[in-house]
Amino acid sequence: MVLHGSCRCGNIHLALSTDMEAAAFTPRACDCDFCVERGAAWMSDPAASLSLTVKNRDDLELQKQGSETADFWVCKACGTVVCVTADLNGRRFATINARAMDDRHSFQAPVPASPKLLAADEKQARWAKLWIGCVTVRDALSIG
Ligand SMILES: [Zn+2]
Repeated sequence: MVLHGSCRCGNIHLALSTDMEAAAFTPRACDCDFCVERGAAWMSDPAASLSLTVKNRDDLELQKQGSETADFWVCKACGTVVCVTADLNGRRFATINARAMDDRHSFQAPVPASPKLLAADEKQARWAKLWIGCVTVRDALSIG
């Protein structure tokens, strides 16, 4: 199935192709200040593939947070954080903000997570295991 999501204004669209039912996802509520402030809870399926479509690149801001090894994708027009990506060993991994997904009310209640307690290399090992390992980014201009 494909689970869809977007930022509030629709500039950034997410399509997650997964074998998991929406109800099988348990988002992880990170307890760092950035995520708490924005009410972000992260969900991923290592076997899934994620397609990101950006209408207006000027309104996309990639923010480095914490250990500076991951990029938070923020829409400047509406302030929504849609996902986080990290490039590890030449491969791009991602986790998405459950709050930005159309099916957000079907997911399990978020469980607390404290990745800030991990060292940078421990974080990256965790991401490579948990996060979506197939990520493509499309520009609305290039796909018409
Ligand atoms: Zn937006």
